[in-house]
Amino acid sequence: MSDIVVPFADLQRAYEALRPEIDDRIREVTSSGNYILGEYVAAFEQAAAEYLGVKHTIAVASGTDALHLAIVAAGIGPGHEVITTPFTFAATVEAIEYTGARPVLVDIDPDTFNIDANLIEGAVTSQTRAILPVHLFGLPANMEQIMDLAERHGILVIEDCAQCFGAAIDGQATGSFGHAGAFSFYPTKTMGCLGDGGLISTNDPALNRRLGELRNHGISDQGEHVTLGFNSRLDELQAAVLQIKLTHIDETNERRRQIAAHYDSVLTDAVAKTPRSSPGVHHVYAYYTILVDDRDTLRAQLRDAEIATALYYPKPLHKHVHFSTTCRFGPLNIAEQVAQQCVSLPIFPEMNDDEVDYVASTTAALLA
Ligand SMILES: *Cc1c(COP(=O)(O)O)cnc(C)c1O
Repeated sequence: MSDIVVPFADLQRAYEALRPEIDDRIREVTSSGNYILGEYVAAFEQAAAEYLGVKHTIAVASGTDALHLAIVAAGIGPGHEVITTPFTFAATVEAIEYTGARPVLVDIDPDTFNIDANLIEGAVTSQTRAILPVHLFGLPANMEQIMDLAERHGILVIEDCAQCFGAAIDGQATGSFGHAGAFSFYPTKTMGCLGDGGLISTNDPALNRRLGELRNHGISDQGEHVTLGFNSRLDELQAAVLQIKLTHIDETNERRRQIAAHYDSVLTDAVAKTPRSSPGVHHVYAYYTILVDDRDTLRAQLRDAEIATALYYPKPLHKHVHFSTTCRFGPLNIAEQVAQQCVSLPIFPEMNDDEVDYVASTTAALLA
């Protein structure tokens, strides 16, 4: 019996790895006397825009707000439809509903667990205003096909980038393909702060201006309330922490990719299926999810071996009481099957090699 105990994630280790830098920066902010929408937010927005290769970013209070405000800013509301996936976190679909628009759910691709781009066209109606792909678990969706389809139908694309800060396709960052990208800095995401936070990326100056108003009570640069806005600002403390996190994101994502490569080498498709990325697709492994026939037994055995697991997601959204009545959808067989078989293994940048080996070899032995 091994004496290794592997948690699913360990935010304390993540903090310890950067403690001197973070503590110094927090002291700077606390003594600055300026805590909301100040120089740290502006500097972080600029650094994030440069990193993502977009013209503008707007920092907001959460990933959910980033999605919601991006949809509002795009002029989407009652009478409109937005196409997305049922295999995602609830916030994706909630954000559509907040605006009064109707979510339309399309089945997923069994190889990537992302929205199946081949099925989107069949769901487009005269009410469709946008496609909202989710780059699930850090793996980019098929943006080439989605952008092409959106262009042909004259509809918008808003990317849910909550799980994929740092992911890219052929060197182009996720969040820079569509009309807007919505990021989350919830602590366990690939780039997390010390609380809630979010960001919208866009190349459209009009969308940028409108989002700046929406996050702060609808106030224009001239001090006029020009629209019904919200209170959704990122605070200076979180922006200061995120400035530091941004300088380490490629390093921490690279470690996630190393761990995943080791899992891949042991847990081949013959042992357990996992979403695979194709050449040029830079997957950042927010989660490492496998499909197994009897996941309850595997989870119990891993728990006995002191290895934590989690379920993302045990039920597709259309199977939940609320969304079953609010969304429009047809058959969602792949999402239902994947939701029944998925289980996620620990993957976080601060895992040490012994822990990675232990998770891989234990899981492989149990599934052999
Ligand atoms: C986490 C998450 C969100 C919401 O982000 P918050 O910052 O928690 O509001 C939205 N979509 C997906 C896919 C997520 O994983």
